[in-house]
Amino acid sequence: MSSTESDISASISDSSDSSEYVFGSRYLPYEGEPLAAVGDDITDEFCKEATKEADLDGLTPAILESRYDRKNKVDSWCKCGKCSDQNLVGALEFRCCHEITEAIGKLTFDGSIEKISCVTLHEDFNALTNETVLSQVGPLLRDRKGKSYRCRSGTPYKEYIRAVAYRWLARWLFGYMGPENTRPLPACIYENIRVRYNAGGQTGYVNAEERS
Ligand SMILES: [Zn+2]
Ligand SMILES: [Zn+2]
Repeated sequence: MSSTESDISASISDSSDSSEYVFGSRYLPYEGEPLAAVGDDITDEFCKEATKEADLDGLTPAILESRYDRKNKVDSWCKCGKCSDQNLVGALEFRCCHEITEAIGKLTFDGSIEKISCVTLHEDFNALTNETVLSQVGPLLRDRKGKSYRCRSGTPYKEYIRAVAYRWLARWLFGYMGPENTRPLPACIYENIRVRYNAGGQTGYVNAEERS
């Protein structure tokens, strides 16, 4: 066990503070993070139907399913060159950073899109996904009940780090979206994080309603 893992276990066993969210192995990417802006302000029935059909990135379930089934191969939809379907879990994860306005916005805002093709190549992405940064940021994140994140004893440390990374990166891309709201990240980000922090047992993106 590394010293970091020992520290985490120790902080858990020492802590009886009920305000802390205990991270468990059933943790899902983006648990507690914002789901789209499908809000009360949408009252028009037509709008509701349209929202059900295409998600915030303009992708329909049919498009995502055809990618998931490999009827549309990754080369046909990835424009950044960094997406891979090797480590993707659910159909919702089959999207390129070029299809996410907020991700492309990161590259256009500072002009880096002239030099780099993918959000995972952005210098802020590297800084934000540094392991030390993630280990420090985890306890600062809050779940929807306002509890902070802790790694439960017995849960692989890297699994915890991945979960923190998903939440942290969603906040970087989309900002704070409010409780009960979530949005999937692009495939290039899932690939990057799962390869770098690989401990097996990937849990894919699950939207807020399907979470236990
Ligand atoms: Zn891509
Ligand atoms: Zn990308």
